[in-house]
Formats: sequence, structure tokens, C-alpha cells
Amino acid sequence: RANAQKFEFQAEVSRLMDILINSLYSNKDIFLRELISNASDALDKIRFMALTDKNVLGEGDNTRLDIKIKLDKENKILSIRDRGIGMTKEDLIKNLGTIAKSGTSAFLEQMQKGGDLNLIGQLGVGFYSVYLVADHVEVISKNNDDKQYIWESKADGAFAVSEDTENEPLGRGTEIRLHLKDEASEYLDETKLKDLVKKYSEFINFPIYLWASKEVDVEVPADEESESSEEEEKSESSSDEEESEAEETESKSKTKTVKETTYEWELLNDVKAVWLRNPKEVTDEEYAKFYHSLAKDFSEEKPLAWSHFTAEGDVEFKSILFIPPKAPHDLYESYCNAKANIKLYVRRVFISDEFEEFLPKYLGFLMGIVNSDTLPLNVSREMLQQHNSLNTIKKKLIRKALDMIRRIAEEDLDESDAKGKTDAESESEPDTEKKGKYVKFWNEFGKSIKLGIIEDASNRNHLAKLLRFESTKSGSKLASLDQYISRMKPGQKDIYYITGSSKEQLEKSPFLEKLKKKNYEVIFFTDPVDEYLMQYLMDYEDKKFQNVSKEGLKIGKDSKDKEIKDSFKELTNWWKDVLSSENVDSVKISNRLDNTPGVVVTSKYGWSANMERIMQSQTL
Ligand code: ADP
Ligand code: MG
Repeated sequence: RANAQKFEFQAEVSRLMDILINSLYSNKDIFLRELISNASDALDKIRFMALTDKNVLGEGDNTRLDIKIKLDKENKILSIRDRGIGMTKEDLIKNLGTIAKSGTSAFLEQMQKGGDLNLIGQLGVGFYSVYLVADHVEVISKNNDDKQYIWESKADGAFAVSEDTENEPLGRGTEIRLHLKDEASEYLDETKLKDLVKKYSEFINFPIYLWASKEVDVEVPADEESESSEEEEKSESSSDEEESEAEETESKSKTKTVKETTYEWELLNDVKAVWLRNPKEVTDEEYAKFYHSLAKDFSEEKPLAWSHFTAEGDVEFKSILFIPPKAPHDLYESYCNAKANIKLYVRRVFISDEFEEFLPKYLGFLMGIVNSDTLPLNVSREMLQQHNSLNTIKKKLIRKALDMIRRIAEEDLDESDAKGKTDAESESEPDTEKKGKYVKFWNEFGKSIKLGIIEDASNRNHLAKLLRFESTKSGSKLASLDQYISRMKPGQKDIYYITGSSKEQLEKSPFLEKLKKKNYEVIFFTDPVDEYLMQYLMDYEDKKFQNVSKEGLKIGKDSKDKEIKDSFKELTNWWKDVLSSENVDSVKISNRLDNTPGVVVTSKYGWSANMERIMQSQTL
């Protein structure tokens, strides 16, 4: 286009496009759901704006918030248009030329090695997936604040933007035209597209239409019949004896029925809000699909668990919470400024996904929606805070989330206890995925539970129940505090633990000698966060925690304790003098050892040796 302004893509975008356009990746289908998801986002935005200003919607067709897909088989063009917010010239340049999100480089590297493209949408670069199937893409867009513009690129490192003087005015919104590559002509097949939309975009909140062909019966005057259709009629009636009578009477009349191909907008989804349905009527499959569309995670892995509930009381709302199958790779790196994953809807209108306050940080890994019909449509954060609704919602969500996690923890325990099942029984089990689910959860999100214990005093005990760890008695499995307590020896008052860098290292510790010999269980805490955790977790079910490498360890009482202590007084005093009080607080006779003659013990309120190690590695 002569009047076009040329731009170069940001280097990362260029690299991404190179990878995509040359990709042999088998699941190219994903481009369609990325486009539909963008269209849906754009529609959400304009609908949200219209809450405060009806005029933004305009009139006539412009008020119809829908998504339309059209195929031009002759020219091999697939186009998808929405009546969303549209993009100004500036938006086009910024949104379709740069990548805002960090972590893109890491993703690019992964992809270059053949990694999973399915995550593309989560990284805020979903649009570029069009280059999996097209080598030339045009984006025509009209935003209320600007004229209509065309953005186009052939993935050659540059894109062009020009004012659109050639196409029909869109009114408002965006049309994306994909000039399909030869090897992607399958996307000109209506059936294929219908299947894809069903598969990926079932839960899009706006109607999606396809300009679809349809065979219709048309009545034409009998005398105007062409010969070919007469033949068709004959063969049909001869193949169907029963209908021959009806055919005969029809052919006696003056009209004739012939098949004709017409086109019309066919609705592909039924715009149902899953959360408004009765949980009993929603299948697991539907929940999984809904999760995938919500999380933009199309890895096909099912969510680990979900909770679908209605909250009543001060603030009424319905909600679905999901535990994703995997933690995002940067969950704990960006922990402090992680974004919330809860979408707020009021009367089915998407309001915002930026109310971080819905969930505390440690539960930030959950995905979900909250739909309230009692909140006003123009609800704002300030308003929610003022009426304390935010707190009410938050409390309920936390409770439901912890219930859900506890549920999978308990199911997992049931499973591991239910040994000795016959083969037939385990085969008929419909869902063997329950098994090991909590272990999976723990591996992905265990740290979140620990951070919860640190951050959320009011739920500390609930969260402590969810803790899992290795211990001197856990074998190859993980143990819980409840299990620990059930194995405690008669008379044992404290819960024993030791911290260090690994189970292997800790097992050799002299601090364990006596405890092991006497058959006491000792918990191994090997994650650096455990040191912080144990500063907050003082007790559980009335049992105190005792670090066995710190002073204060009492393993039973011996009547001769005092006698022994006195008889070694000379030695301990001598030792204390030699080491001087700068190095040790005291030298004591101890019954915590077995083979080892002596150990250095840290004081009750100071850092453990492991903590010293952690702090040192951090300052280096
Ligand atoms: P994401 O959707 O995660 O932001 P994308 O790469 O899919 O990332 O899209 C990039 C940006 O381009 C979007 O954030 C949006 O601003 C803009 N965009 C894409 N498609 C549309 C559309 N149909 N209507 C309006 N804006 C769009
Ligand atoms: Mg997108």
C-alpha cells in the first residue's frame, strides 16, 4: 500500500515470528482460539466501557457484540471480525509490534528447542500464532477514537500501517484476515472450523458465528425444472420405496423441490455461563474445558481440582475456583507482584481481573471466577472496600480454597491406605487420577502452603494440616503432621524436626543418633523456606515443635541425670574456659547423643546452623 508507514518489529517479536512461520508444530489449531480469545477480550472491554457510557456502543449493528468468522475458499482467506473495542493506529503499532511481558526470552528459548507452543496465550503473545497458518496477515481495525486503519505483515521483520480507504467501514471493532499458507488450507473447511470452535471456545461469552453453507430445499415451478434435477428426483424415489407415493403426488402438483446451497450465519456456541449452572449438571469434561479457556492453558492437562459454589449472606456470589495442573515457572520468583487470577463478573458482564485482593498472595496460584448479581455494574475497588464486601468475598474464597485442597489431601490418603485392592477393583475405578494427586499438588504448590502458614495467622492451623514432609519414618512417601502425631511415642511431648539441605545429609546427623535409637520420629525440613516457616509455626494440636539441633531437647528423664552432671562439672567448666564465652554460651552434659562424643548446639532463640548456612549463601 502506497501510503503505508513501515515499522520494524521488536527483536523478540521478529524471533518469535520466525519460529512460528517455520514451525512444523503439529497443533496449529491454536491460532483460532487465540484470535477468538482476543476478540472476546476486545468485546469485554467495550461492554465494560458501555456500563458507564452507553454511547460508546453506537447504534444498529454496532451494538451487536459478536464474533464472526468467514472463509473465502477461492482466495484462501480466513477472516474473523469482532465488534469489540478496536485499535487506534497507535494501538496497532504498540500491541502488534512489541511484547510487553517479561519471560518471553525464556519462552522463546524453550520453543526453539521444540517446547510446548500451547503456552503462547499465557505469555501475552497469542496473536502471533496466526503465523503458524498464514504467511500474510492483515488487521483492519476501528476504534471510536480514531479512523479505520490496516496493519499488515508478511512476517519479514517489518509491518506496515496505513489508513484504510479500500475496505468497507467496520463501524467499530477488528477484522483479521489470514492469507493461509498452502499447507494450511484445511482451515478453509467449515466442518473443521466448527469443530475447533466447539473444542476451544465453547465458553466464550459472546456469540460466535460462521458464515456457513447450507443445503436447502427450494420449491421451483415444475415446468421450469432442469433435466439434471429431474434425474436426481428419479434416482431418489427409486431408492426409497416408501416415499415413492408421496413423491408421486408431489410431482403431480405444479412445483418441484430442488437442493440449493445458500450461506448464512450459523451460531457455533451457546454462550452459557458455566458458573450459573447447577454443579450437578456440569460434567468434569466441561469443567476442564472451562478451566482451559479461563487459564488460556490448552496443554490438555486437567486441572487438579475445582470448587464450584454459591455464597450466600452479605454478598451473594457464585464462584468456581481451580487448582491448575502445574505451577507457572515464575510463580515464586514474581511472588510479590504476581497478578490475581480471579475474574469478576457482575450479572455475567466481565468487570475486571485486577482485583488482587480477592485472594491472599499465597493462594495466588488459583484460577477462577466470581460472579455476583447483587453488586452494582459500575462496581469499583473503592466501593468494594467501603462496604467491606471485598473482605467478605475474600474470606469465603479462602475457606473454599482450603476446603478444596484438604479434600484432595484426604482423597490421596484414602488411596494410599487402600492397599491390597484386587486388580478388578482398581480397574473399575473410573478415576485413577485421584491417586497421587496431592503429591502432585504438593510438588507444584507446596511452597504456597508454607508461605500461607507464614502470612495467614488466622488459617495457620488449617494450613499446617496440609503440610507434607519427609521424616525418619516417612519411607519413600511424604508424611503429614497428623500422621506424625499418630506415631508419637507414649510420653512424647514435642514434635521433633531438623533442618538442613537434604534428607541424605540430615540422616547422618549426630543430632539424630539417640532419637533414632529410641525410635522417635524426626521431621526433615530441607527447603530454605522451612527455616522461616518454623519461626511462625510454634505448635500443632497442642504439641510444640522442637528443633533437635537446638538447645531444649529433652528425651525422657533419667534419675541419674543430676549425679552425672555433677561428676562432670570439672570437665565442663574447663571446657567452657578453653572455648571462652565469646564462642559458646555454655557447655552441658547431654543425653541426646549416642556414638558421637559431643556436638555444637544452637540456642533456642537464635539461628539454627542451617539458617546460618542459608544466610551466608544469600549474602555471598
Ligand atoms: P494478549 O491477548 O495476551 O494481550 P495477544 O498477542 O493475543 O496478547 O494480543 C496482543 C494485544 O493486541 C492485545 O492485548 C490487544 O491489546 C491487541 N489485540 C489483539 N487482538 C485484538 C482485537 N481483536 N481487538 C482489539 N485489540 C486486539
Ligand atoms: Mg490474546
